[in-house]
Amino acid sequence: MSFFSKFKDIIFKDVSTENKSKDMSVLMRILCIINIVFNFALTIFYLVLLSSRLFQWSIAFCVVFGLILWMTYWDQTNGAMYVYTFAMILSMLVYSFALGPTVGFQFSLYSLILLFYYKTDENPVFKVIAGVVISLTVIGVWFYLVYIDKVVEFTKLQNLVLLLTCTAYLSCTIITIAYFYYIKFASSEHKIIKYAKKLEKLATMDPLTQLTNRRGMMNHLEAFVSDSASHSQLSLAISDIDFFKNVNDTYGHDAGDYVLIELGKTFKEFMKDKGWIARWGGEEFLFAFEDNNGDYAFEQLDKLKYSIEKRQFNYKEYTFNVTMTFGLEEYDSSVGISETIKNADNKLYQGKEAGRNRIVY
Ligand code: GH3
Ligand code: MG
Ligand code: MG
Repeated sequence: MSFFSKFKDIIFKDVSTENKSKDMSVLMRILCIINIVFNFALTIFYLVLLSSRLFQWSIAFCVVFGLILWMTYWDQTNGAMYVYTFAMILSMLVYSFALGPTVGFQFSLYSLILLFYYKTDENPVFKVIAGVVISLTVIGVWFYLVYIDKVVEFTKLQNLVLLLTCTAYLSCTIITIAYFYYIKFASSEHKIIKYAKKLEKLATMDPLTQLTNRRGMMNHLEAFVSDSASHSQLSLAISDIDFFKNVNDTYGHDAGDYVLIELGKTFKEFMKDKGWIARWGGEEFLFAFEDNNGDYAFEQLDKLKYSIEKRQFNYKEYTFNVTMTFGLEEYDSSVGISETIKNADNKLYQGKEAGRNRIVY
């Protein structure tokens, strides 16, 4: 395992309590590491470039942020956040008061506002109050230091190193928190889209046969006729199982369900390269032959009708056959989808009247 993946594992190590959010712990860990690195860099700066006793403070803050980091591994993320806030404010006050307002340490406190707003389970009033308090602290410190004329003279090199260190620190903090906002937003959006797709599927699917239901078929047909060029063909056939009530009455309702499921599978396979199939109602199915005329649909349905007639259904100890009647109608754009279906339905009725097990075209 590379050093990087080991490091990643440690940072992303899950919190053991399930109801605590993992992302907050991970964010706190990364922020603590940024603060440790920042204070370590300041320690070197204070020792090497400034010869100041401030290094004692920066070492102390390294230890404090190390302790906060440790807290996040013990389900103390909330506590860690409050100690982090306190340590941040204290460190920025110490550095600002020692080195004056021009370095801009105090502005780093603004990152705390982002942190408080990131935490979703926090009271909104608390967020607003925290935001105001932090802003007032930043402005207060800045005013006070300017007012007492606390100006520390730095050499060009010292100024450059301080400025770079502070800018790098603030950038890392803000980018990290912003990235976590992005992750949270993107994952919620992903969940919503997934859920909406699932709902749409549920609303347009028949749970018994797993075929599209009437609503799904109507949506599809309307999209098909509005998308396709006016010359594209469409043939619709409504089919109904003959004497299906007898199947239920003789072999039981479950046997009827079994027939519907088996026929659903057969129809799905049959229509795979021809168009769409839907469970239209109880024991009725709608076949939509896309880009095909009625003659082609008739030929195909005739083969299907014959195969159903010959098929034996074996359910428990029973063996039986079913037949189906079809009403077939070519789509006519001048009458529309609903009227075409109505005409197909009338033909189905004629087929029933004429003795069933046939296609009326
Ligand atoms: P016809 O040839 O005139 O169509 O006769 P039929 O018996 O098929 O027609 P009828 O409309 O009298 O009966 C349809 C039956 O279909 C009655 C109903 O209980 C049954 N049915 C509808 N949906 C389901 C279902 O989901 N499962 C089962 N097992 N039966 C169903
Ligand atoms: Mg029937
Ligand atoms: Mg019926």
